[in-house]
Amino acid sequence: MSENRVYNFSAGPSMLPEAVLCRARDEMLNYNGSGMSVMEMSHRSKVYDEIIKKCEAKLRSLLNIPENYKVLFLQGGASLQFASVPLNLMKTGKADYIVTGQFSGKAAKEAKKYGTPNVVSDLKEEVYKRIPKAEELTLSPDADYVHICANNTIFGTHWNYVLDTGNVPLVADMSSCILSEEIDVTKYGLIYAGAQKNMAPAGLTVVIVREDLIGNARADIPTVMDYAVMAENDSMYNTPSTYPIYVCGLVLEWIESIGGIAELEKINRAKAALLYDYLDESELFIAHADRDSRSLMNVTFRTGNEELDAKFVKEAAAEGLVSLKGHRSVGGMRASIYNAMPVEGVEKLVAFMRDFEAKNK
Ligand SMILES: *Cc1c(COP(=O)(O)O)cnc(C)c1O
Repeated sequence: MSENRVYNFSAGPSMLPEAVLCRARDEMLNYNGSGMSVMEMSHRSKVYDEIIKKCEAKLRSLLNIPENYKVLFLQGGASLQFASVPLNLMKTGKADYIVTGQFSGKAAKEAKKYGTPNVVSDLKEEVYKRIPKAEELTLSPDADYVHICANNTIFGTHWNYVLDTGNVPLVADMSSCILSEEIDVTKYGLIYAGAQKNMAPAGLTVVIVREDLIGNARADIPTVMDYAVMAENDSMYNTPSTYPIYVCGLVLEWIESIGGIAELEKINRAKAALLYDYLDESELFIAHADRDSRSLMNVTFRTGNEELDAKFVKEAAAEGLVSLKGHRSVGGMRASIYNAMPVEGVEKLVAFMRDFEAKNK
């Protein structure tokens, strides 16, 4: 990593691979002989058409997305999907929501504007430190879909199993874990992700949706939110988020160069293990999430003393380990270690934590 850059543990927007930033810089003024920046070109131009097509093809190949799924490049963030999902999929007004943190809670709340979502589980009193087990969940057989948040960015938990919803489509918010691990897309009816954590700069939302689920949107849905319209127009009903899509393509190329998602998952598991192994042996730091629900991407922990937490965050920043403050709803610290966080960044953080523990015991 360049010497003037820091290890940025921000939950999002977050680090991008340095190789991607350098490539974007090199291509900034004159993309591929076009004489212009990608930011300046028409989304209808031939050169841009290649960029978006290549991005989709790479995503399909890396995630093994079957032919009967559409890939949509949208705007409005994951938060707009909290409304788009019910507007497109909630045909009978019934859907099951499993609330495992703040974002899934917001999703359920938004769905309430359009129907009667059923909150199957909400472990708020446990400060969302775990994902419920399948046997704790009673799903409705007649729901239009079941909504989950696959990785809870704020609380640092992750669904470490795929919920079996039978014939009811499973809808997953994967904003903070997409591309971090191998997934079986066929287990999901719809996957959505705000791109600013693991894919691209902010401004792009990716939706992967099974074809048979689209085309039944409410009549009063805003046109740009209608998956069928966006699919028919190859995400170009209106101007898409052109530059983030281009950078997304570069990120996907970077993942290919590493050896694909399987290889990346190995690295991510090793990175997370460095932190969790230390947290489990530490006498100062306490991990927030239960062992069987831990996230590979967002590692939450605290000392139990707010002043000491604040001191930790401040001293870490002085060492070039920045944005470690936890979300206000959990407190403590959060290290977001997305794909682009180098192993060295995590090693440096763990070394800093050991040193801090020795000095503050
Ligand atoms: C960041 C995040 C969101 C919100 O994304 P926006 O793009 O800001 O709307 C939603 N869900 C999860 C899991 C997130 O991590």
